[in-house]
Amino acid sequence: MNLTYKSTRGGAQVTASQAILKGLADDGGLYVPSSIPALDVSVEELSNMTYQEVAYEVMKLYLTDFTPQELKSCIDKAYDSKFDAEEIAPMVYADGAYYLELFHGATIAFKDMALSILPHLMTTSARKNHVDHEIVILTATSGDTGKAAMAGFADVEGTKIIVFYPKDGVSPVQEKQMVTQKGKNTFVVGIHGNFDDAQTGVKKMFNDKELAKVLDANGYQFSSANSINIGRLVPQIVYYVYAYAMLVHNEEIVNGEKINVVVPTGNFGNILAAYYAKNMGLPIDRLICASNENKVLYDFFSTGRYDKNRDFVVTSSPSMDILISSNLERLIYKIAGEDAEANRSLMEALSHDGKYEITPEMRERLKDFYGNFADEDQTARTIHDLYTDTGYVIDTHTAVAATVYKKYVSDTQDTKKTVIASTASPFKFARSVMTAIDKKYADMGDFELIDELSSISGVPVPKAVEEIRTAPVLHNTQCDVDEMEDTVKKWLNIK
Ligand SMILES: *Cc1c(COP(=O)(O)O)cnc(C)c1O
Repeated sequence: MNLTYKSTRGGAQVTASQAILKGLADDGGLYVPSSIPALDVSVEELSNMTYQEVAYEVMKLYLTDFTPQELKSCIDKAYDSKFDAEEIAPMVYADGAYYLELFHGATIAFKDMALSILPHLMTTSARKNHVDHEIVILTATSGDTGKAAMAGFADVEGTKIIVFYPKDGVSPVQEKQMVTQKGKNTFVVGIHGNFDDAQTGVKKMFNDKELAKVLDANGYQFSSANSINIGRLVPQIVYYVYAYAMLVHNEEIVNGEKINVVVPTGNFGNILAAYYAKNMGLPIDRLICASNENKVLYDFFSTGRYDKNRDFVVTSSPSMDILISSNLERLIYKIAGEDAEANRSLMEALSHDGKYEITPEMRERLKDFYGNFADEDQTARTIHDLYTDTGYVIDTHTAVAATVYKKYVSDTQDTKKTVIASTASPFKFARSVMTAIDKKYADMGDFELIDELSSISGVPVPKAVEEIRTAPVLHNTQCDVDEMEDTVKKWLNIK
């Protein structure tokens, strides 16, 4: 059976491969599957499968216009020795929760889980749809997406990739990772603005019909590697299914037992994937949405009002410093009863007034979710206490989730087994992590801290960090927010 994709704002239906190529729908909406497919293999079978096999069983249900050979080939190219753990997403039990480590890929953040496969899904989609233009991936990043996308697309034939990041809004390791990126088809630009400025600028270019014509005339077409692309969302569903199957395999839970999932959230992509997994029949009870001090989502879940009109806080978990969670639109569409008009008017209110309020009926449909947030002190204390009690070191984003999980348990007394999505290696945020453990580390240099972290945790320095120690800086372009389009045209040699 062929699953089609429709826009959350009502436009025409497309196939999976077309949705992957386009990224965003022409009407500005996000593509969603016309219905969420049910898992068609048992958990028992899944519990004896490798990550790659589980990926196939999940993704085949969504990418129905890919042949089995095409999909398996994409999976094999993505989930290989680029990952430094054979399980791809290993799980660590510490202090009452299961940490699902999603950071064993090329850039040591969870974005690798999807971005290592997206280039292959995209070039396969291009072939299927007889695209002869060069695909230009346009990406805004809060730090991790940019590097992971470039690592995925670098030197992939028929593609170019341009990444915009907030010049002063990413960690030193994140910035160094990006500006040392190799590959003739990669281009990195630091903008004088925050992540939302970058994301808004990118969205504007996507929606600009005139610009699309100019690109077309020059043999290019845009696509997106941002988490709005269905080719990002679908691979992220896999690890929730895999995690559940692994818990059954390891006899931590019995088949059918409900678990909770905690996700440190920014753009709402990762937690939306968990929601899809639940809707496919995976026994997940609550979806616990963890925010940092940019707690728009916490306020939304507790009041039904989404309001981005507030100060943007730069925190120690920069990949969650987001005031417009793009993927939330997919949830809004769903709880509006898949009413594209209702969704569109809320999204228009968001873009005009920066806020909207959902109806009581829609709020009723949010019962699967629990939202809370962690401030900077609480986050640091969680890192400190977990290390002191167990020796396990987590990064700042994961610590936001772990803090919110503690609040959830004390609010609800719910003792179901719980998986915490661990979204970045602590090595990526070594300064914040180490000073949380002990203030005495504040005076150390970045790489000294990394060696010290390795020594106190007993975890070897990941290859991704080792590499940038000596890598030359290859990118130094900066621009103002209103110069983004010109910067793109200049790089593509468009007059
Ligand atoms: C991107 C990112 C997040 C937020 O994920 P979303 O899908 O945007 O909600 C959390 N932690 C880390 C380390 C990230 O890179």
